[in-house]
Amino acid sequence: MKALRWHGVKDLRLENIDEPTALKGKVKIKVEWCGICGSDLHEYTAGPIFIPGGAPHPITGEQAPIVMGHEFSGQVVEVGEGVTKVQPGDRVVVEPIYSCGECEACKQGKYNLCGTMGFLGLAGGGGGFSEFVAAEEYMVHKIPESVSYEQGALVEPSAVALHAVRQSKLKVGDRAVVFGTGPIGLLVIEALKASGAAEIYAVELSEQRKQKAEELGAIVLDPSKVDVVQEIHERTNGGADVAYEVTGVPPVLTDAINSTRIGGEVMIVSIFEKEAAIKPNTIVTKERTMKGIIGYRDVFPAVISLMEKGYFPADKLVTKRIKLDQVVEEGFETLLQEKNQVKILVKAE
Ligand SMILES: [Zn+2]
Ligand SMILES: [Zn+2]
Repeated sequence: MKALRWHGVKDLRLENIDEPTALKGKVKIKVEWCGICGSDLHEYTAGPIFIPGGAPHPITGEQAPIVMGHEFSGQVVEVGEGVTKVQPGDRVVVEPIYSCGECEACKQGKYNLCGTMGFLGLAGGGGGFSEFVAAEEYMVHKIPESVSYEQGALVEPSAVALHAVRQSKLKVGDRAVVFGTGPIGLLVIEALKASGAAEIYAVELSEQRKQKAEELGAIVLDPSKVDVVQEIHERTNGGADVAYEVTGVPPVLTDAINSTRIGGEVMIVSIFEKEAAIKPNTIVTKERTMKGIIGYRDVFPAVISLMEKGYFPADKLVTKRIKLDQVVEEGFETLLQEKNQVKILVKAE
């Protein structure tokens, strides 16, 4: 079968590899759609990051070259011995987290914080940029007829956004601000709508991204045109209840802190590549809190239910659809060049 494998920086190859088999406890899936994620792009331009480069991953036992793609939907074609959760014909999405099951994080059920955590599609185990994947039974979640395969490919990134909002102290009727409206920032806006936020502010510079945020119902503020901290304080009468930092840009963290009210909260949703200097007193003197989240846990069923209600809409968030043999030029390269792209989906055929 055809599969896209990471060999090195700027070296992704569409190759012919053996189809996976439905071994004991595994579910063989015919992939329908797979999204290109920001972390896939990082592996392309600056990897290996999550991809095991020099030594095999402790859980999968695999190392580069590995098949990429972790945001996918598909149909079950075969199940291995002992599998009871799904059967051939079922429509599914995959929650692509490998965890050891033994470390302190795993014992607490926080499998996304596992010390040897890995992603199917980055750490081995096959991936969604191929025709078939054999995933572990525990990773598989059924999707109903009312959730399309395209929509299904958005479950994984939407799970990050829903986890961020669920881990924050946002209450129904609160006011929130999202700094950065790339794909995850836009999904955070959707998660906030689903969670009953009364007002959602979005801070963004890019013209196209501003438009998308507005289309989803956010009140957009451009930091090149207004003092966003002052503007948010005025409009909310004292500051946002919760700010979500989704840029990874150090000075933005300071704005995120200062945009919240006394006792407010800052959720760090992005990965920072550098140190970010903050003034601790901006936390101390207002009794604010700051918290980070990574990935997701236990939220796939909730995301799927919200999608049935129309949240995280694929028709607004998917900006391009391509085929597997176009994935490098029309997918990865396009995402690097075109800021107006939100989510590019790849059809596995
Ligand atoms: Zn992802
Ligand atoms: Zn663990």
